[in-house]
Amino acid sequence: MSNKPPAPAVPAKPQNFLRGIIERDLAAGTYAGRHWAGTPGDAAHQAAGAPDPARIRTRFPPEPNGYLHVGHAKSICLNFGLARDYGGICHLRFDDTNPEKEEQEYVDAIKAAVQWLGFDWKAQGTSHLFFASDYFDFMYRAAEALIGAGLAYVDEQTPEQMRATRGDFNTPGTDSPFRARTPEQNLARFREMRDGLHADGAMVLRSKIDMASPNINLRDPALYRIKRATHHNTGDRWCIYPMYSYAHPIEDALENISHSICTLEFEDQRPFYDWVLDRLCELGLLAQPRPHQYEFGRLNLTYVITSKRKLKQLVDEKHVAGWDDPRMPTIAGLRRRGYTPEAIQLFCERIGVAKDYSWIDYSTLDGALRDDLEGKAPRAMAVLEPLKLILTNWKEVFGSEAHLEPCSAPAHPQRPELGTRDFSLGPELWIEQDDFKEVPLKGYHRLSPPRFGDDGAKVEGTLVRLKYGYVVQCTGVKKNFAGEVEAVYAKLIPDTKSGTPGADAVKTKGVITWVGVHDALPAEVRLYDRLFTEAQPDAGGRDFLSVLNPASKKVVTGYVEPSLASAKPDDKFQFERHGYFVADAKDHAPGAIVLNKITGLKDGWAK
Ligand code: ATP
Ligand code: MG
Repeated sequence: MSNKPPAPAVPAKPQNFLRGIIERDLAAGTYAGRHWAGTPGDAAHQAAGAPDPARIRTRFPPEPNGYLHVGHAKSICLNFGLARDYGGICHLRFDDTNPEKEEQEYVDAIKAAVQWLGFDWKAQGTSHLFFASDYFDFMYRAAEALIGAGLAYVDEQTPEQMRATRGDFNTPGTDSPFRARTPEQNLARFREMRDGLHADGAMVLRSKIDMASPNINLRDPALYRIKRATHHNTGDRWCIYPMYSYAHPIEDALENISHSICTLEFEDQRPFYDWVLDRLCELGLLAQPRPHQYEFGRLNLTYVITSKRKLKQLVDEKHVAGWDDPRMPTIAGLRRRGYTPEAIQLFCERIGVAKDYSWIDYSTLDGALRDDLEGKAPRAMAVLEPLKLILTNWKEVFGSEAHLEPCSAPAHPQRPELGTRDFSLGPELWIEQDDFKEVPLKGYHRLSPPRFGDDGAKVEGTLVRLKYGYVVQCTGVKKNFAGEVEAVYAKLIPDTKSGTPGADAVKTKGVITWVGVHDALPAEVRLYDRLFTEAQPDAGGRDFLSVLNPASKKVVTGYVEPSLASAKPDDKFQFERHGYFVADAKDHAPGAIVLNKITGLKDGWAK
């Protein structure tokens, strides 16, 4: 009898400060009294609804101006994961308040990325997919309310004047000459802005907080600007658009978000986030209790760039083949490279969340991939740098040059239920070039021909096992006129076939992988390396293009065993000795095998 407590059915998730905050709020019932009308809306709208069935609400709020990258994956896993773990709901919200740069292609790609990662904005039978631009009417109404309460004014200073009167860390700002206008004057002016009576940039609506605040973000930050631009959702209806820092807290509040999680850069914005929500709650426009913002350290991954703008530059300037180039750290790129949703989730769990900046080593991501695929990926043999091996005594042993000797191997060594792979040994095989050395260094146990040693004594050709096959002994080498090795000769040792009683009669120090010339399938194999030569490609303002790795992609033609004939796009394999590979999602087809190397068997990143 052991008095150890039973293991929990579900392994406990590592505790982090965000979990601590949520657990504290749940215990205190902070958000228990909220109502939810089934859709986003203002205080009156929500008050008419039923008690909110979600214990917490989080959101993932991408701007649809590019493809999501591995940093966004961290935010997705975090927000959707917290909602899942605490009986909450996570919204997917497109933060499309900026009329420029936003495209349907990005909206579609972002939805696909979230779903592929294993998350769903549909919960409790309804969709929680929202667009911030649907809230423009409310944002405008809230701005008029702030003006009416004397909390906002139209400032007609030039951008230069505004910058100059803002002060800096050591100097308080000075009031704008327009700050003392009455609410009536401001309202009339703001409506003129809305009605298109003023030029782009001629004036802005500013909050009226404190030009001397030690937090520069509270020195009357702008709420609205004039910008004549066609919006993908609202067309030409508006020529004024809300500023991000004003729009974001409102979006959260209209959606009943309880825990608004963002990256550390927004820490200084939190007081303004609170100001906007507190004032609009006081004015009765937004439901209470209101959302709160919490910041965590963004993901920085070595050898990787996590900025949509810079990734877009790589695509636009054709340094890569597209957003889903297997070298790209976009979710689309990682997917095509062969990373699995499970591996990315595992990675995000392992790196955790913390309230500081840090760099995560790329090997952490690859480690998660290996841990995921080790138990899943069927094994196969492949030869990536082929050299022909000719078995000279084939006819002698098997009676016919045409004989093929059947061989088999488990699809997965630990999972017999996956069955076996069948292939055959013939008189000519493909082996790796580096499995042969004419003059071996000490400790080399693969193929080398008979030779004379330094002492003049004859050294026999090496004995090597062909994996799942026979033991062979190297007998010689065939060279062309230039002296280059064209083929290796060996003789097969009878009665040594793997799995037969005689297999161990002849001991070998080396085992090599091979495929049959008669049944191997040619394959285009794309070998990828890191995209940048520096661990922090854009650190310190460096031009990241100056450290692009010119050798980040190498294409070879190799041979794979016949079991790959049925490989479908996205199927993953572990090639013995080589690592993990995936059939390319776009270019692979039956009869035209195209493989991407995901990663090696061992950590190739650690220095
Ligand atoms: P980028 O600078 O690449 O455009 P962004 O933060 O502007 O990134 P958004 O579309 O605004 O991109 O991001 C959506 C969400 O993803 C935000 O909540 C943001 O905090 C989060 N996010 C973005 N990059 C990272 C990162 N590297 N690590 C963690 N979270 C991130
Ligand atoms: Mg952004």
